[in-house]
Amino acid sequence: MPNRCPSLAIVVPCYNEQEVLPQTFVELRKVLDKLLEGNKVNQSSRIYFVDDGSKDATWSILEEKAKQDEYVVGIKLSRNRGHQKALYAGLCYTTEDIVVSIDADLQDGPENIELMVDHYLNGSDVVYGVRSERKTDTFFKRFTAEGYYHLMKKMGVDLVFNHADFRLMSRRVLEAFKSYPEANLFLRGIIREVGFPSSIVEYERKERFAGESKYPLKKMLSFAWEGITSFSTVPLRAITVLGFLSSFLSVLTLAWVLGIRVFTDEAMPGWASILLPLLFIGSVQLLCLGVLGEYLAKIYSEVKRRPKFHIQKVQRRCEGSSE
Ligand code: UDP
Ligand code: MG
Repeated sequence: MPNRCPSLAIVVPCYNEQEVLPQTFVELRKVLDKLLEGNKVNQSSRIYFVDDGSKDATWSILEEKAKQDEYVVGIKLSRNRGHQKALYAGLCYTTEDIVVSIDADLQDGPENIELMVDHYLNGSDVVYGVRSERKTDTFFKRFTAEGYYHLMKKMGVDLVFNHADFRLMSRRVLEAFKSYPEANLFLRGIIREVGFPSSIVEYERKERFAGESKYPLKKMLSFAWEGITSFSTVPLRAITVLGFLSSFLSVLTLAWVLGIRVFTDEAMPGWASILLPLLFIGSVQLLCLGVLGEYLAKIYSEVKRRPKFHIQKVQRRCEGSSE
């Protein structure tokens, strides 16, 4: 049974977000105030901003705010770790009954948090924020993102279509999630893996309020690859299939060569027929080795069991800071 008046934690990873933060404070406080007034959440609710090693004024803005506002907590990581790990750090720090994760740039519409809490009160342990459309994305981003979800599905990875990292989780889901020890984090996949009753809140994704996207193409591609290799071994199996296919082709070619040699007086076809398969097989082998290497690298980073983050400083209103 869901807690009737639970405490709520909102976790916001921030990396060089000085332009949006003042507005983010206003919007999130508005949401929290409304929830408090409606007695949907209790007074021990908090908003946690995780500074992911920003190089601009993000931390000083957060620190200042956390000193003034008792509902705001600033957490500073020791260095930049990337969105997923920053979010993970924030999630692990919370102790509240329900936790909502949302980006700092206000693209996901904080007003949807209330709806998510309603879903929780009606018995959902996980509420996924799902983009109803991608009008504000460029054609390229929309095309690649949607293609990616389809590809993941084909590879047997269970993802919620068009859901990123805007979601609500109950304490029991969060605790279950924390028992997943993997170093390579792909949160939207892991939460799905955890299970428990879930529901969906649809929303229209807006333009970034200010500042620039912190996910350039290179980061996006590596994140996409991370998702595939963390959750699917289909690429490894594909190598085996490729091996079978090329062996089959080799047998056919062999039969052809032997046929010419035994049954005709024609000279052997020239160097192209030797060189081309040679180059082809060579490059396929290298590619396969590369895919194997990717999984090996994943095992390498997993067995080291390195901590995913370190907290340098926490700022709250009453207790002051702790190093
Ligand atoms: N972010 C982070 N660390 C990083 C990169 C991004 O904490 O290394 C945060 C960023 O501040 C934002 C969220 O992750 O709150 C999503 O980033 P962004 O909005 O740039 O991604 P996009 O919406 O363009 O995919
Ligand atoms: Mg964004």
